Amino acid sequence: MIRQAVIMAGGLGSRLKGRTVSMPKGFIEIEGEAIVERSVKKLFACGVEEVIIGTGHCAEWYERLAAKYHCVTLAHNARYADTGSMGTLACCAPFVQGDCLILESDLIYDDIGLFALVNDPRSDVILASGATASGDEVYLETTADGNLAKHSKKRAEIGTVAGELVGITRLSKGTIDAMVSYCTAHLADQPKMEYETAMSAVSGSGHPIAVRKIEHYVWREIDDETHLEMATTKIWPLIAENESLRAVRREVLLNPGPATTTDAVKYAQVCADICPRELEFGQVMEWVADELSLFVGKKGDVETVMFGGSGTAADEVMISSCVPDGAKLLIVDNGAYGARFAKIAGAYKLNFEVFTSSGYLPLDAKAVEAKLADGKFTHLAMVYHETTTGLLNPVPEICRFAKARGIVTIIDAVSAFSALPIDMEKDGIDFMASTSNKCIQGMAGVALVFCRKAALETTKVYPMRNFYLNLWDQYAYFKKTKQTRFTPPVQALYSLRQAIIETKIETIEGRYARYSACWEVLAAAVKKMGLTMLVSEAAQSRLITAIVDPASPKYSFDALHDRARKAGFTIYPGKLSDANTFRIANIGDIRPEEMERFVELLADYVKEL
Ligand SMILES: *Cc1c(COP(=O)(O)O)cnc(C)c1O
Repeated sequence: MIRQAVIMAGGLGSRLKGRTVSMPKGFIEIEGEAIVERSVKKLFACGVEEVIIGTGHCAEWYERLAAKYHCVTLAHNARYADTGSMGTLACCAPFVQGDCLILESDLIYDDIGLFALVNDPRSDVILASGATASGDEVYLETTADGNLAKHSKKRAEIGTVAGELVGITRLSKGTIDAMVSYCTAHLADQPKMEYETAMSAVSGSGHPIAVRKIEHYVWREIDDETHLEMATTKIWPLIAENESLRAVRREVLLNPGPATTTDAVKYAQVCADICPRELEFGQVMEWVADELSLFVGKKGDVETVMFGGSGTAADEVMISSCVPDGAKLLIVDNGAYGARFAKIAGAYKLNFEVFTSSGYLPLDAKAVEAKLADGKFTHLAMVYHETTTGLLNPVPEICRFAKARGIVTIIDAVSAFSALPIDMEKDGIDFMASTSNKCIQGMAGVALVFCRKAALETTKVYPMRNFYLNLWDQYAYFKKTKQTRFTPPVQALYSLRQAIIETKIETIEGRYARYSACWEVLAAAVKKMGLTMLVSEAAQSRLITAIVDPASPKYSFDALHDRARKAGFTIYPGKLSDANTFRIANIGDIRPEEMERFVELLADYVKEL
């Protein structure tokens, strides 16, 4: 697993003259995007969690990039004018923790090269290509074992050419450290050392670096005007075509989960087989759990416990594991998921009462609080966002009231987590359920239970009512072993890791803004068509909308569904027994332009009625 990448971006780019006087080379644009920004996006999409950029010339451009992508770390090479790329790499080296991708900042490349390096069994590998005839080749010569022996820009200095250096390399921390030592030792005689020089040196002295050649690799380094011309007219179209061929057919899911995922999340499942009891996989799960916890609490306050299962498994974990004998549970039911809580509590024969409220009118917080105030209840279970109708419940208000009375709060936030900002401490939530396949935008298969640590500790002595779904056992075993008790959904967890990387980049606030923008397109169009939304706008989550069926006798959900499906949209019927509705969700990797296309289709259908 490669978690970090370094981009060396300290150079002056003096061969591009006018363009780079007051701008680093990486900010040259092709097809409207800075080449370094595109590179950063490709690195995140191939599973890199952090991109470290070594800056120098015009570093403020990179400061702006880092403000936009806060998983970018900057390391400034103050001596950039007097050092070469190795000086910049040395400034980045202290941030490197393990195997790492090292890139030059002025490259455009097919992302298949990153895939090849990430999947290479070796830790130290240089990516090379066949002949480019670019006029600026760095030729590589290898030893009999295929390791880097020598590099040169002069063809005559090289025996057999093993390939041309691309500028994308995978290196272990040990090799990078050896390169830094070599550079430090030669500071006096080679102050402007390039990183290739250090690689050649250490490869021959204890840190062999393999050369991985892709004969027809599509890439271009942009060092001068001729390169830029070649990159724009010849190379970029090839890259764009290659990458488009690997795009997965797009289906926009407007059903309330599983939600549409990015291709990077889909591709994250395509990786080497691994036994989930290996430490390497344990570290992946630990990172996933820790990062999920940070979305809803401060470091150390929240523990995320993961099970193989859908969202309902997480609900069942909470109800069966967090309510001890002798407790009394109040369940708020104003939709299918509140009702499901009651069914689960019934199956375990818990002592509980149901507070029923309308499926589409706003929940009266004061009425729930009055019920809780009578002192009978020790536990409260309710749904954050009732996906049945899109009704948003006043969970923070009620939970804070409950916490003030010592009542334990159990929340189904399956369709709220990662869309709405949640702070478990501030909102008074002790236990909270979600799943990998809704607003976090991963694949189905991982049930998530978020626990306030103090509340979790109290469950240690509770009776074990079931085996597979026991919260404390799953938590304690993972803490001790970095393993789940039973086989975890391995590939779904790799996807979840990628989904977390993407969520950190977008931020939960940014995600809700995007979802809201999609909802606004939908809501405006629905009103224009003369259709009615079941829930009043103020009480809506803006994540899913229940729309009352058109009055026409010709209306058929199935006909609408099939027409939408043909156009790449999946819609979902309503779920309330006392209102005929269909539902449009706007969660997942969807964009307002796509919602625009959908509402056009809907409007056409409604007009025909
Ligand atoms: C989706 C959802 C669930 C879980 O459904 P599964 O099919 O088990 O994943 C639970 N609660 C709410 C509020 C949901 O939206």
